Amino acid sequence: MLFSELAEMFDRLESTSSRLEMTDILAEYFSGIDPKYIRQTIYLSVGRLHPDFVPLELGMADKLVLRAISTVSGRSLSEVEDMWVKTGDPGEVAEVLTQSKKQMTLFSEPLTFEGVVDSLLKIESASGKDSQDRKTKILSRMLSDSGPLEARYLCRIVTGRMRVGAGTMTVMDALSQAFASKDDRPDIERAFNITCDMGLVAETLAENGMDGVRAIKVAVGSPVKVMLAERLRSLPDIMARMGGKCAFEYKYDGIRVQAHIRKGPDGFVKLYSRRLEDLTSNFPDIGEALAAQLRGKEAIIEGECVAYDPAEDSLLPFQNVTHRRKKHGMSKAVEDVPVRIFMFDMLYRDGEDLTLKPYPYRRMLLESSFSESENEGYDRLGYSERAVIGSEEEARKFFDTAIGSKCEGIMAKSLGQDSVYRAGSRGFLWIKYKKDYTQALVDSFDLTVVGAFYGMGKRAGVYGALLMAAYDPDTGRWGTACKLGTGFDDAFLAALPGMLEKYKTDKKPSSVDAEMVPDVWFVPGLVLEVTAADISISPIHTIACGAVKEGAGLGLRFPRFTGRVRDDKTPEQCTTAAEIVEFYEMQDERDVESVEEAERASEDGPADE
Ligand code: AMP
Repeated sequence: MLFSELAEMFDRLESTSSRLEMTDILAEYFSGIDPKYIRQTIYLSVGRLHPDFVPLELGMADKLVLRAISTVSGRSLSEVEDMWVKTGDPGEVAEVLTQSKKQMTLFSEPLTFEGVVDSLLKIESASGKDSQDRKTKILSRMLSDSGPLEARYLCRIVTGRMRVGAGTMTVMDALSQAFASKDDRPDIERAFNITCDMGLVAETLAENGMDGVRAIKVAVGSPVKVMLAERLRSLPDIMARMGGKCAFEYKYDGIRVQAHIRKGPDGFVKLYSRRLEDLTSNFPDIGEALAAQLRGKEAIIEGECVAYDPAEDSLLPFQNVTHRRKKHGMSKAVEDVPVRIFMFDMLYRDGEDLTLKPYPYRRMLLESSFSESENEGYDRLGYSERAVIGSEEEARKFFDTAIGSKCEGIMAKSLGQDSVYRAGSRGFLWIKYKKDYTQALVDSFDLTVVGAFYGMGKRAGVYGALLMAAYDPDTGRWGTACKLGTGFDDAFLAALPGMLEKYKTDKKPSSVDAEMVPDVWFVPGLVLEVTAADISISPIHTIACGAVKEGAGLGLRFPRFTGRVRDDKTPEQCTTAAEIVEFYEMQDERDVESVEEAERASEDGPADE
């Protein structure tokens, strides 16, 4: 297959913002190609060669790419750089300049799909001395064989700028349209949620149909999308929702880790964050302890890693464990910041996929899977504190003890037969109840940045405010929820442009619904924690549009950045449209003082009212 066919499909995708059209384009393409190309097509559409959880990335520096474009087009480097400064996109520069090059090259051969993948793999694995030169040469060779469209996508792929706009939801719709039926869509989604590998799911579907997809199981080494909790504001609401009886667990304030453990000669331990980042090197002590104390051969468990003070025998706040997320100085951090893991779930053990088993069974297996032996002065492994509770009064007591033990709150967990591990979804099988909710304080939301407004006055030269969006898992789209201009300190404002650079895009991302037009657009990526006093029906914001009032969305009033960057969350794990609606509906019960308090805290007042 020629690479130009893929480039043309990318171009068609990019030229529409209609999700239905994108689905049709993809479905037509998938059904027309040999199944052996499907897996890489999926990875390449997001600028990768592997599933997201494999840390390898192409990430070629713009400078190298510009050098390759200059060599191939015969234009001077400064001419190429000038054009790049104007467009900000090496893909566009390559597209324009290779047009003129075409007349000059006589011996070019068309690029094949396999040839491109092979060359990209070589670029990715090039390391050591001369690796920059080798990468540039490989790219130059491809560029001299490519037409304008192919050049555009090659340069975007190698610089990590691939954004054709088709999200995971659209890809899954297209797969079911091409190879199965609408009714099969949930099974396709489940297969993706338990493997985090759309390429694998698509290839299996194209080659073995739905039977193959249904046979996909959780596997050690392949992260599973995490299950998330809903929230309710009062214990009676939680007890009622749980049918009067449920398990409660402490809600620890640390970093969630999904541990994949295999013992024996082919053994390994991998720790993944809830964003599927590899955290193994951040918690080597936890990895070792898990492998040493696991009774079986293989397991996938989940727990919260919390910083711990062995002398005082007490838990430390979240900020402490974040030292373990640093890239450098890890051995010192391991020494300085002792961490314990509180295990709360088990997804797999010795050949048995547990994700469809009820929670009490999973928990029972978890508790029998690790030996109790103490190690090195303090015990690194523990199970989350837990009690089965049947009354509001007991729940209140449990909550108070959790807070007394320096936890954030508690998690209610359903004991029902249907209490499966719902990979990748937020639902009422788990309900969180936090300290904040009880203090008539403001609520917190995790929102992703989709736009920025240039600052004025003392914020001239930096971004002065951000356009923030929440996620709607039903549509796979983000809708704006507020313009955020409060709670930033100078250091954060100075760092923001750098943090957002890789998400910058020249037009509104097709997965975002927005009425407000910022100075700069970003694809959903960076997640920030925001508090708000209140939620109101909004004529400008688009999240939960139509849910409360026809033609109107919901907006956060008096939003304020808490100072916490949620780099442990993906933009799909942001606060959802349904949660925002729920907050809106719960407001009547809320204390007016909390609104006034937030109004006072919000120095600049509501940015968009
Ligand atoms: P939130 O981040 O507010 O949506 O709360 C959900 C998070 O609470 C999970 O992703 C875990 O990181 C954390 N957590 C702490 N303790 C528990 C527990 N016992 N069970 C489940 N999740 C927990």
